[in-house]
Amino acid sequence: MSAMWRPRIKFEHRPVRYADGRVRIGGSAPGIARGLRDPDGSVWALLALLDGSRTVGQIADDLVRRFPDRTLREVREAVGDLDAAGYLEDAAETALSAFERERYSRSRAYFRASDRTPGRSRWDAQLQLKQARVVVVGVGGTGCAAALALTMSGVGQLHCVDADVVEVSNLNRQFLFTEQDLGRAKVDAALDRLRLHNSHVELTGSKERIEGPEQLRALAVACDVLLVTADQPSTGEIRSWANQACRATGTAWVHSGYDGPRVSVGLFRPGSTPCYDCARAAEAHRRSVLSPRTAWAPGEPMERVQAANAVSAGTAGFYAAHAVMSLITGVPDLAADREYGMSLTTMRDYDTLQLEQRWPDCPVCGHDDGG
Ligand SMILES: [Zn+2]
Repeated sequence: MSAMWRPRIKFEHRPVRYADGRVRIGGSAPGIARGLRDPDGSVWALLALLDGSRTVGQIADDLVRRFPDRTLREVREAVGDLDAAGYLEDAAETALSAFERERYSRSRAYFRASDRTPGRSRWDAQLQLKQARVVVVGVGGTGCAAALALTMSGVGQLHCVDADVVEVSNLNRQFLFTEQDLGRAKVDAALDRLRLHNSHVELTGSKERIEGPEQLRALAVACDVLLVTADQPSTGEIRSWANQACRATGTAWVHSGYDGPRVSVGLFRPGSTPCYDCARAAEAHRRSVLSPRTAWAPGEPMERVQAANAVSAGTAGFYAAHAVMSLITGVPDLAADREYGMSLTTMRDYDTLQLEQRWPDCPVCGHDDGG
């Protein structure tokens, strides 16, 4: 057994204690059951700690604190004896089916390679994903890739929000749609495709257009991470709405998108300050003090379409999924309350909004007392 397993007494072997102080474990079957002497109550206390919520190290610390005559080594050996007798199982291991453990075996190795948190069970990160609920607002280029990665990674519940239908111009970058989906609601097509990828994920959707922070608040209150990949009415506006909504509900949130070859992702923990709108206000101020500019305006109206392909959209979406999983599992423990940028032209990161200090008159966090 790994040092990070979480021992739990098998239900069929649950112990009983008699009035005279004796303890029996392993049920009543001869050859399995065994009596334990427990003069000072420490054995019964140890058995109570074997409920699958603690590592062996945590159990030993807890017991030695209450029974100073015992040593950490004695407690570890006692757990080892119970395990050798077959009374224990790994709670982390049994929370996933054999099929899921096979399915996510590479993810487990990935988490193990990246995770340096002491005392974690081998499946902790995967279980955290399984228990998490994520909402994706906007199933476009970024949202498709993010939803696909989160579904394949085994997030427990995923709710997709989008009011649009699939158009021909989406097909160069929106991974969940095929030519057969043209004219279908994006949410319907996305959910059908995602279900084919992973039947263990509870997938839901709603065809709504986000028109203010109240809608995002209703979505945020029911999830662990809100992912905003929509760009309507503008990226700045919907992200500000998400900031307001998640500040009110205490929900972690992520935004991601692309501007030509520039890809960016931002992740924010609930209630932190400086917040997204602090950075936005600082940026608006920085622009306002630049020397006045005149934009080139040709006589004929120009065609204005978004510059995007499968690579820029996919990169933004996969970064977004990475950020969401970081907020859920802590693997890797990305610094939050900031944005990360990557240029596909130089293949290097570039400067994005830095949230170093609160903007004095921030419309969202400016009136908070906390710091
Ligand atoms: Zn703020």
